This record gives sequence, C-alpha cells and structure tokens, in this order.
Amino acid sequence: MISVQQACHLVLEHTQPLIPKMVPLRKALNQVLAVDLYAPIDLPPFPQSSMDGYAFAFESLVDSKVLEVKYIIAAGDTATYRVKRGEAVRIFTGAPVPAGADTVVMQEKTVLQDGKISIQDPSLVVGSNRRLAGSEINANAVALSKGTHLGPAAIGFLASMGIEEVLTYPYPVISILVTGNELAHPGQPLQYGKVYDSNSYTLDAGFRQMGVDQISVRHLPDDMESLKIALHDSVNTSDVIVLTGGVSVGDFDFVTRASEEIGVKTIFHKIKQKPGKPMYFGAFDHENSKSPLVFGLPGNPASALTCLYLYVEPCIKKMANQPSSIKSITAPITADYKKPSGITHFLKAHFDGTMVTPLDAQESFRLKSFARANAIIQINEDAVEIFSGDPVDVYLLPSC
Ligand code: AMP
Ligand code: MG
Repeated sequence: MISVQQACHLVLEHTQPLIPKMVPLRKALNQVLAVDLYAPIDLPPFPQSSMDGYAFAFESLVDSKVLEVKYIIAAGDTATYRVKRGEAVRIFTGAPVPAGADTVVMQEKTVLQDGKISIQDPSLVVGSNRRLAGSEINANAVALSKGTHLGPAAIGFLASMGIEEVLTYPYPVISILVTGNELAHPGQPLQYGKVYDSNSYTLDAGFRQMGVDQISVRHLPDDMESLKIALHDSVNTSDVIVLTGGVSVGDFDFVTRASEEIGVKTIFHKIKQKPGKPMYFGAFDHENSKSPLVFGLPGNPASALTCLYLYVEPCIKKMANQPSSIKSITAPITADYKKPSGITHFLKAHFDGTMVTPLDAQESFRLKSFARANAIIQINEDAVEIFSGDPVDVYLLPSC
C-alpha cells in the first residue's frame, strides 16, 4: 500500500496535457489558450462616438459655438460622410465619427434650434467622447497570450475581434463505468436489497464542475465479461476511464482484474487513507495509440467523491494544462481528533475563513455531511492525536 503523497505523485507523473485542438469560441469556456492570439483588426475598427450627441471639428469653435446640423449617423450606418468647418452631424453611441470631425459633444450640453446647435460645454476638448480606431487594441498586437484562461470576458474580447475559433487545450473525454448489481436508477421504484446509484450523479456533476463536457455513463453488473467488454469499448473513445465500485477484494470485485486483462498496467491499488483505501489507478504502456488513464474509485459514495477531488481532479486539470482548482491551505482545527498512526484521514469539513470544523457523519457511505462541506481536512499518516487549535492541512473544495 502506498501513501497519499505517493499516489498523488504517481497520478500526475502519468498525466500529460492533451494535444491542443481548434474549438468554436462558444465551446472554449474555462479552457486555456495553446498559442498567443493576435488581433486580426483594429478595435474599435473605426473612430466611434461614445455618446449620443453631435460630432464636429473642434477647430470650428474658434469661429462660433453655433454649428449647422447636416446629417444623422446612427450605430450601424455604413454610409461615409465628411463634416466641414462650421458643421455638425447628429450622432449616436457606437456610430462612426465621420471624416472631418474629431470631437463629440453630448446632446445634454447643446441647445437645438432651427437646425443648428449651440454648444454649452466648457469641459470639451479635442477628441472628447470619441474612441479612436485601435484604441482598445491595434491589428497584429498580441490580444491574449498563450496560457490565458478563457472566462466570459476573454471569450467576449475574442468575439469582438471577429475570432470564432481558438486553439486550446481540451478537457479529456470521460467514460464513467458504474458497477454494482445492487444499483437502481433514481426515478424508478426501489426493490428490497437495491440502492439508488448516486455515484454516477456525483461524478458526472464533479466532472462538469471541473469544466469537462464530454462524459458518458454506463451501468454494469458485477460480471467480469461485461466489465471487460465495457472497458474495451471505452479505450478508443476516452482519455480517462473512471470506474466506481468493485475495486475492493470481495468475490464480486472485478475492476482490477478486468483492467489488467484488457492490457492496463496497475500503477497502484490501495492507498493508506480513509476513506478511499481501495482506490485503483492504471495506465497503458504503449504511447502511440489512444491510451486512457484508468481510475477505479471505491463504491462508497463519500470515498468516491474524496478520491475524485484528491486524485482525479488534478489529473483532469493537468490534461487541460491547468492547475488544480482545489486550493490547499493550513488552518486551525476546532476539535480534538484521534486516529491510529500509519493512515491518512480525510474529514469532510466546514472552513469559515479562519478555522476549520470537522462535520459529523464521516462514514464513507454517507454523503449528508459532504453535501454541506466546503473543505476536506487531511490528518497526516503519522499523526495520532490532534488538539483543537492545532494547524491542519485543508483542501478547499471548488465551490467555495
Ligand atoms: P463496492 O465498492 O462495490 O464494494 O461498494 C461499496 C458500497 O458502495 C456498497 O454499499 C455499494 O452498494 C455502494 N455503492 C457502490 N456503487 C454505488 C453507486 N454507484 N451509488 C451509490 N452507492 C454505491
Ligand atoms: Mg460493488
């Protein structure tokens, strides 16, 4: 059995960023850019009014503060105009400031009478209320650099330059294989002896929260042949295969054997931790063909989710060329805690910004406390007794 630290290290050692792919901009949320992106155009593309008002040549004011209004230019108008000295054009926010004009006065600072405006704005200077072409960015300048995380603003910025697809590190394609003869689907009646499958929901939600959008879920009986066929099918279509259940040493636990029989090399099986001790991790040896990583998570719901956060999440993020979003801090614990040496304990917890409190109901079959947790406390392998106020390692879960 290996330590938590060894397991984390082995997972990341076997994980590589995926090959960058062109994706439509609308699909690029939460991905990172694989190249520097250059502006294809000046932005704004033309001198633009930032107000509803009147555009004119500032030097006209030397002669008179009264100007003759010649045309109307609305946002989106494509006709070109030229403004002469002594003239103004009615203009609206976002419309092109015509040739000959360099300044826009707000309509509130004018009086319109008989087709002429009288300007009453002592603060006006040359270029007021006009955005120059390229004042946001010039064509060919670096718009966003390689490694930029694409959030809503970055995506909008790229769209504003007319970019519709980008080269990013994709998220992996995930196959979730749920094993267990006892599992029923939520929404269906529950027979005696059966339990509802919650893991496929937890894992699917966990992956979506990470930014993954290609996830398939398959339910399998505790049967060696079915498992091998499903694993085989998933190899060519997935970057990561995640199994739940059947990873222990019971008579009906086939995950490790089935994985090995289809050619997966076991990297580790079992970690000195609670919950999640039976976790399995495997990889293919050959590198040219598609070779997904294989995680076997324990069936107990809290164990499966703990392992998802601690081992699978950093792997998924590394494939997408991103750091883990599970931040690790140290904080004082609010309760005493005892445990045997030689095993790491993970406790569902609530972090209030200063102190961290272990929640009740820590057993691995229970999700109730996990549902309220925003953190996981790690009590290290060699610790036997922790006192209230002692600093402990804490993982902050992604939602907080
Ligand atoms: P296993 O890891 O297959 O030995 O399962 C351990 C425990 O987790 C058993 O009580 C299972 O019924 C339960 N379990 C396994 N898979 C699931 C699942 N998908 N959803 C909810 N509970 C599960
Ligand atoms: Mg099982």
